[in-house]
Amino acid sequence: DEATKKKLSSTLEKTIAMIKPDAVSKVGHIMDMIFSDGFHMSKAIMAQLSRTDAQRFYAVHQQKPFFNELVDFITSGKVVAMELIGNDAVKHWRTLAGPTDSAVARSEAPNSVRARFGTDKQTNAVHGGDSPENAAKELNIFFGPQPQKNTAKLLDCTCCVIK
Ligand code: GDP
Ligand code: MG
Repeated sequence: DEATKKKLSSTLEKTIAMIKPDAVSKVGHIMDMIFSDGFHMSKAIMAQLSRTDAQRFYAVHQQKPFFNELVDFITSGKVVAMELIGNDAVKHWRTLAGPTDSAVARSEAPNSVRARFGTDKQTNAVHGGDSPENAAKELNIFFGPQPQKNTAKLLDCTCCVIK
């Protein structure tokens, strides 16, 4: 009914999911998991992040001892960034992604993406925005707001933007 429709639309949220370089070869499996869990995918792009974009993407971790190693990892190959829409999408995608450490994911969330495709604490297959605000900032690195200023490097034959 109308009340239910309104309630559902009021919880609709956008988030970013990003497949990291270690799991790009598993993009099909990961998209299957995303669609099976009921997300709508509104945009997708394959790109290689520049160091500058990677530093922007992980700005909140600037002070962490693993920051440089993390930037090395995330710029080591192509990534696939996706805009996902769904009810409570931020929390929902982080749950499907699983705990940060892939080993913990395997024991605590065996059906999660990180349990299936991650290796360890750093090399953990996917990223998920942790709030609607941070997700919006991260989406902007790949998709706008001004596409001409978007410095995420598009690869000639492999990029696509689905709108
Ligand atoms: P997430 O939100 O679950 O992705 O985890 P965080 O925001 O805490 O960390 C961001 C990313 O940094 C993680 O997904 C890992 O790729 C990496 N990371 C987190 N903790 C460590 C660590 O202790 N060492 C290293 N090398 N990388 C880490
Ligand atoms: Mg995080």
